[in-house]
Order: sequence, then C-alpha cells, then structure tokens
Amino acid sequence: MTNAAGQGRTGDAAPRPPKILILGGTTEASALVRRLAGRPDFDVTLSLAGRTAAPRPEPVPTRIGGFGGAKGLARSIAEQGVTAVIDATHPFAARISANAASACRAVGVPLLAIRRPCWARQAGDEWIETESVAACVPALGEAPQTVFLTIGRQELSVFTAAPQHAYLVRTIEPVGDALPGLRLTELRARGPFTLADEMRLMREAGITVLVTKNSGGAATYPKIEAARRLGLPVVIAQPPVLPEVASVEDAEGAVRWLLSSPPCGPGRRA
Ligand code: NAP
Repeated sequence: MTNAAGQGRTGDAAPRPPKILILGGTTEASALVRRLAGRPDFDVTLSLAGRTAAPRPEPVPTRIGGFGGAKGLARSIAEQGVTAVIDATHPFAARISANAASACRAVGVPLLAIRRPCWARQAGDEWIETESVAACVPALGEAPQTVFLTIGRQELSVFTAAPQHAYLVRTIEPVGDALPGLRLTELRARGPFTLADEMRLMREAGITVLVTKNSGGAATYPKIEAARRLGLPVVIAQPPVLPEVASVEDAEGAVRWLLSSPPCGPGRRA
C-alpha cells in the first residue's frame, strides 16, 4: 500500500518515511516546508537554484544549485531514492518545471506542481499585457517614462534597448552591470510589500508606469493595487506555458496530496 508520496512497506522492513524533494524559491515552497518540517512521516529536502546569496533559512535540509538539466535531475531523484517531487517553483521558472516533468516521467516518480493563479485584471486597472518580458520594452513606447521595474534580475538587459526611460529597479540581489548606460536607481528589497509602502514609493519616485510579471500570489500584489489607485499603467508579462502535470494552488493542497491515498507511488504516475 502506498500513499501519494510513495510511502510504503517493503517486505518486513520498517516503513521508511517517503522522501519528498521540493523544488522551491517561492513563498509556497517556504509555506510547504514549514508545514512538513518536524513531521516524522516525511523526509523532506528543499532545493534552491542558488540565485539569492543569502536565502532565508528553512527548517528542512536544503540543497543549493542546479541538477544538470532534466537528466541530472532524474539521476538525482533515482540516486537519492526520492519518492515524490513537488514543483513549487515560480510561475516564470519554466525550465526547471519542464525538467521536473520530464525527469519524473523518466524515473516514474509522482510529481505535483503548485501553480498559483495569475492575477486577473480588475476594474480600474490599465494593463498592457505582453507575452514575455522582452515584449514589455516596446510596450513602454517612445516617450520617456519613469519606470518601476519589478521583474527580477535575469532579464533586465532587454531594457538597454530603451535608454530614453529612467528606471527604478527593485531586486533582492544587486543588479551588477545588467543595465549598462541606463539611468537607473537600484532599490534592494525583498517582499512582501504593503499597499501603503508601494503607493508611497511610486509617488515619491514619480513613477509613470509599472513593469512587472504576472506572477500571481498575495506577496507582491500590492504594487498592482497601488498602480490602480494612482491611475498608473502597468505593462505586465504573462507567464510562460508550463507542462501539464497534476497541480494544486497552494501549500495546503500539496499537503493534502501528500497525505492522500493511492494510486501514486514509486514507479507510478500522479
Ligand atoms: P529556470 O529558468 O526555470 O531554471 C534555470 C535553471 O536553474 C534550471 O534548469 C536548473 O538548473 C536551475 N534551477 C531552477 N530552479 C531550481 C531549484 N529550485 N533547484 C535547483 N535548481 C534549480 O528558473 P529561474 O527563472 O532562473 O528561477 C530560478 C529560481 O528562482 C527558481 O527556483 C524559482 O522558483 C525562483 N524564482 C524565480 C523567479 C522568476 O521570475 N523567474 C521569481 C522568484 C523566484 P539545472 O538545469 O542545472 O538543474
């Protein structure tokens, strides 16, 4: 008999707790590890990409760094005896989600994704939706703007194509030389942010447009509400298409899945 996490008995041996690999880097992953930490019925490892120099300490063993593509991830799952994988990565982290789907399929280990719903346009929102971060650049137009850029660090360089704008760039890590030759002000901060703080920041910086990713979730939504209340346009990149796998919307749903009954288990699909 196995549960969704692949827990079970082998012959007369004592049952071993299922080994759960959580691919993280999000508030959902942190919420999930907090719920599972200390439980004797799960053996949890959190995996982070290593993008943040000082990630928040988490109450479960944490490994940091890539696996070496889908094949490397499949090898690691097999070698470590992982019995279920939870893809709790960011909705814009498309590569690791694709790798997780392919690796779990290859080794026959169940996979669950935590997929938070995107933000939906509300009355009063002035959104220009784009299909990617790169497509946000032409959407800013020719006239100089004061742009609040909240897209993380990795794709910043595309904005060098629009040097007429001034940029307020908010990131967790220093942007380094990602935006050579641009008028930019760096703001180092980690969410969550409050509506009052977001409104004050946008007012004081004289922001004329917000550029962001449609990441969903509550932690960074106040900037969207602030823009609405201040009557500012938002250029918003829609998330990439992710592989179709079993999914839930939040950490609670993942705990329910882990505690659920068959049909999942090593060698079987979710
Ligand atoms: P990505 O493009 O999907 O992944 C690039 C590579 O990074 C992957 O192929 C993998 O390397 C490695 N990787 C990503 N997530 C990993 C994890 N949790 N554990 C181990 N390796 C991981 O991802 P990304 O957009 O660079 O994001 C990196 C991480 O930051 C993700 O974990 C994500 O949850 C978090 N994050 C991303 C965003 C965003 O906007 N993209 C925002 C907030 C947080 P190998 O192929 O070598 O295994």
